[in-house]
Amino acid sequence: MSGAGGAGGAGGAGVRRVLVAGGGIAGPVTAMALRAAGLEPVVYEAYPAGADRVGAFLTVFANGMDALRAIGADGPVVAASFPTDRVEFFTGTGRRLGGKRIGGDGAHGPEDGAPRTLRRADLYRALRDEAARRGVRIEYGRRLTAVRTPPGGVVAVFEDGTEAEGDLLVGADGVHSVTRTLIAPTARRPRRLGTATVCGHTRAAPVTAPPGTFRMLYGGRAFAAYLTAPDGETWWFVNLPLPRSGRDGDGPAARSPARWREAAIASVAGDRTPAADLVRATAEEDVVAFTAHDLGPPPLPRWSAGPLVVVGDAAHAASPNAGHGASMAMEDGVQLARCLRDLPDVPRALAAYERLRRERVTRLVETSAAMSRRATPGPVGRVLRDLALPLLLRHGPRNASAWLTDHHIDWDAPVDAPAPSGAA
Ligand SMILES: Cc1cc2nc3c(=O)[nH]c(=O)nc-3n(C[C@H](O)[C@H](O)[C@H](O)COP(=O)(O)OP(=O)(O)OC[C@H]3O[C@@H](n4cnc5c(N)ncnc54)[C@H](O)[C@@H]3O)c2cc1C
Repeated sequence: MSGAGGAGGAGGAGVRRVLVAGGGIAGPVTAMALRAAGLEPVVYEAYPAGADRVGAFLTVFANGMDALRAIGADGPVVAASFPTDRVEFFTGTGRRLGGKRIGGDGAHGPEDGAPRTLRRADLYRALRDEAARRGVRIEYGRRLTAVRTPPGGVVAVFEDGTEAEGDLLVGADGVHSVTRTLIAPTARRPRRLGTATVCGHTRAAPVTAPPGTFRMLYGGRAFAAYLTAPDGETWWFVNLPLPRSGRDGDGPAARSPARWREAAIASVAGDRTPAADLVRATAEEDVVAFTAHDLGPPPLPRWSAGPLVVVGDAAHAASPNAGHGASMAMEDGVQLARCLRDLPDVPRALAAYERLRRERVTRLVETSAAMSRRATPGPVGRVLRDLALPLLLRHGPRNASAWLTDHHIDWDAPVDAPAPSGAA
């Protein structure tokens, strides 16, 4: 990375102080990128510091690491994670369908291009700590509830009655984004996908996975996976169908960890895989659940309005199946900062940002939704999958997801202004 100015100047778009609502993944990455572009971001996170639920883990793919590298922020994530460069697939009867390498081709060593896996809470902490180290102010317990837009700026209003003034407000406030509803009040709300992901970790696992290997288990009723961290702890998730009540009464807040644990065991107990024993070996307090939502179709009609813009899940939440939401959130933050750095005003910068991002993330949302549908097919679909997958693994394209993972951001390359609307 070069051209990383310190904070204090105004970007090309004439923006200096940027309010970033949300201190998850998109928020700190956007703030670091904005600061590298010479702007003054402040992050407002709804929850108190250290409130992240610890049970879940996630994987950052090569494209997410590339985005972090563009602003020199990959080091802390590498330090907090380990490479996971193989995936193996099993049927609910325990039959191994095959395996493949994921990530790069390993040309520069075994870890080259390998996805990095870490606890969600560790990723949040690594990004926030790095942002703070670079001088970004992060304020906790500040939940955005509304905005006012006086001429030439924006005022964020928080739940506690306090306010903050800036030139631009970036909504990095996740799938249930307040910023999004302010930008597009009539846009469709996040779609409930009818599944929950129950995650846990245990040091008493009856089986462990080989180093750096995800084991995917296509059970009869639920899809599950596990891997073993270098310190010997085994991390797992079970993706189980929810009753079709149509309401969120089955959401994480409505069930205790004990009930989620029971539901996870019940959904994999009929399989001849290690899934049920892994869940049984996990203490209730090490279990956490998420209900899955996505945004689309139709996708959000616009990502910005005046001095408001969204990044990450707030703009384009995908189902968790493709495991790419964090990586995309990182790409968003870096690209938004480039646009604000290089273009002469806010409307052109935000239009360029959306142009750079929309097609790619829409494809991810669609791909991930299709993966979600395929994860637990009916009996005929299961037979077809179990026949086709080994062939695909042996003879299919070596890296069918290259469009996702091989994406590269050139931080130093100037961003071109979008053509004026109505131009051919
Ligand atoms: C079970 C599960 C597994 C997943 N696994 C993976 C994976 O392996 N790899 C991957 O890339 N992605 C994965 N994802 C998706 C990934 O977690 C998201 O895409 C990613 O967290 C998006 O980052 P974000 O910063 O946009 O949102 P978030 O990480 O949700 O962060 C939003 C932040 O905003 C805060 N906030 C919310 N409202 C407000 C408000 N009004 N004011 C201020 N702050 C607010 C929240 O407290 C939170 O800290 C998974 C998702 C789930 C549910």
